[in-house]
Amino acid sequence: MSILVDNVGELVTNDEGDGLLGVRTDMAVAIEGDRIAWVGPKAQAPAADQRIDARGQAVLPGFVDSHAHLVFAGDRAAEFGARMAGKPYTGGGIRTTVAATRAAGDDELLRNAGRLVAEARRQGTTTIEIKSGYGLTVADEARSLRLARELSGETTFLGAHVVPAGTDPGEYVDLVRGEMLAACAPYAKWVDVFCDRGAFDEEQTRAILTAGKQLGLGLRVHANQLVEGPGVRLAVELGAASADHCTHLSSADVDALADSETVATLLPGAEFSTRSPYPDARRLIEAGVTVALATDCNPGSSYTSSMPFCIALAVRDMRMTPAEAVHAATVGGARALRRDDIGHLRVGARADLTVLDAPSYLHLAYRPGVPLVSKVLHNGVLS
Ligand SMILES: [Zn+2]
Repeated sequence: MSILVDNVGELVTNDEGDGLLGVRTDMAVAIEGDRIAWVGPKAQAPAADQRIDARGQAVLPGFVDSHAHLVFAGDRAAEFGARMAGKPYTGGGIRTTVAATRAAGDDELLRNAGRLVAEARRQGTTTIEIKSGYGLTVADEARSLRLARELSGETTFLGAHVVPAGTDPGEYVDLVRGEMLAACAPYAKWVDVFCDRGAFDEEQTRAILTAGKQLGLGLRVHANQLVEGPGVRLAVELGAASADHCTHLSSADVDALADSETVATLLPGAEFSTRSPYPDARRLIEAGVTVALATDCNPGSSYTSSMPFCIALAVRDMRMTPAEAVHAATVGGARALRRDDIGHLRVGARADLTVLDAPSYLHLAYRPGVPLVSKVLHNGVLS
């Protein structure tokens, strides 16, 4: 089965072409099965079984959302309302979602996560990472990952999200890096730790990540969201694919990221929803750090599945250029997941792309809040 995406006014390739995004005009893209087979001027487009007319509008690689927490029950709208009325965010509300998640059946959890994946897809996301972290028992964490696995290949064990109420922290860390990790590893590609004030400290984070690495999992860290701390340094030292949040960084943290393969994943939805200062994206970009943008979709601190919204925030509030923000939301996310088959539209790439109802990627930030995604192809299938 071949598909020709024809009459593309502006194609973001993240390859050869103009600027950071490799923009090319008056193009077509041919797809064979689940891969990009040909990219070139529309006048030279090959024949195909099916033709999708982009009507002169923009086509981009599908967004790669490398940080999301989708396996949970309930919501925390009341907490959000209280926070907007002046109550500070502490992370303690996670326990509210843990109670609701443990009480929910598999069907309810899978339906809710599936709803969010579909919601993200309609907004152009073709790859989404899904973390556990609202179960916090061996059985509930393993169940969360088993369900997440039905929706994404990018699954992350986050038993170290918060110490459950009434549990000794030391005993909990031993459980996470022992029995819980062993039960979850078969369903997980990654292991993550919330290393921050009120969460897990340096020694605990190191112990859990090292145990995960020994079982063959890749590493990610929730780092430096609430305060400056050891998270970013540890992420770099242990070879993590990504340090996420990076809101409070020392100069040494920035230098360490710049000299590493660790991506700084910025999550502006979290700062928006907690009314907190944004990370300094310019400082990271100017130091040469690879930056990704992701939603951090979760019911407490960032209940959005919208990559276009995060792009708009990054441009308006983190002073990223529109090109930098789109790059971070595509290639950046792919690097944060150590994937080279997504995030770009070179020949051989996975056929994940988004057709906009707008003539340029610039409109993603220029027209915030407007549903500009008209068609999404994932693995060469229109969804
Ligand atoms: Zn998170």
